[in-house]
Amino acid sequence: MKLFYTDVFVLPLPAGHRFPMEKYSRLRAALLASGDFAESDFHLPHAATDDELARAHDRAYIERVSRGELSEREQKAIGFPWSEGMVERSRRSAGATLGACRAALEDSIAANLAGGTHHAFRDRGEGFCVFNDAAVAARAMQAEGRARRVLVVDCDVHQGNGTASILRGDDSIFTFSIHGARNFPFAKEQSDLDIELPDGCCDEAYLQRLDEGLATALDLARPDLVIYLAGADPYRDDRFGRLGLTIAGLAERDRRVLAAARASGVPTALAMAGGYAREVDDTVSIHANTVRLARHIWR
Ligand SMILES: [Zn+2]
Repeated sequence: MKLFYTDVFVLPLPAGHRFPMEKYSRLRAALLASGDFAESDFHLPHAATDDELARAHDRAYIERVSRGELSEREQKAIGFPWSEGMVERSRRSAGATLGACRAALEDSIAANLAGGTHHAFRDRGEGFCVFNDAAVAARAMQAEGRARRVLVVDCDVHQGNGTASILRGDDSIFTFSIHGARNFPFAKEQSDLDIELPDGCCDEAYLQRLDEGLATALDLARPDLVIYLAGADPYRDDRFGRLGLTIAGLAERDRRVLAAARASGVPTALAMAGGYAREVDDTVSIHANTVRLARHIWR
């Protein structure tokens, strides 16, 4: 199972910044230590090119990001200060989901050990997202003739608003988002299927709604590829989550998504998306569980 990592492209952040950048290198270390993966499973992705990004983004936006011409306000919405490192990291992160999708279509399952930047819109970023990796990768697979129809299953606790907006009106890519009703983004976009959950929603209620959503999404999407955003932030001890899932509940969520895709015979690419647990190790455990489970389900 190919794993694409970007933790060597560190995004320079001011001291005390609330984004847990260290989770990515810890995740790679945890996966290696698990014994389920060899060094040779880990791959550096290419940096997504302008032409790849432009299938989901405005050329003018890509240029302004690349040249450091984002306004103060735009940088504030993204939540990261602009730097050359931020551009490189954002391109590599999209490249990692692209790589994971290509690998999944060859080997059935693959992962980006970061990514899931679903708050990036066609011409702007927000919520720690610059480029929308899922939209870029889905369009790339279509353009390369590798997949005709794609399903994005977004289980990050925040709605995949950028993905919904970019792909709205595109019948070939189905967007399914299951998220907290009262969480960011406060003005929601319309996905092909949205499931909204109340604050404090716990394992049992979550899993029941998820099952309904998966059945509907797979039925309507008829995908050749699933891109699964396995956000760790529905966790009950997440600083931004507002939901009540346990680590075991999140592993069961992963099992259901992955088993449903496997049962339908649909290759699946993983992206990690958000995770802001009070203890970074919890976030790392949740993400590591996802990747290990994927490997076991497709063994
Ligand atoms: Zn999130």
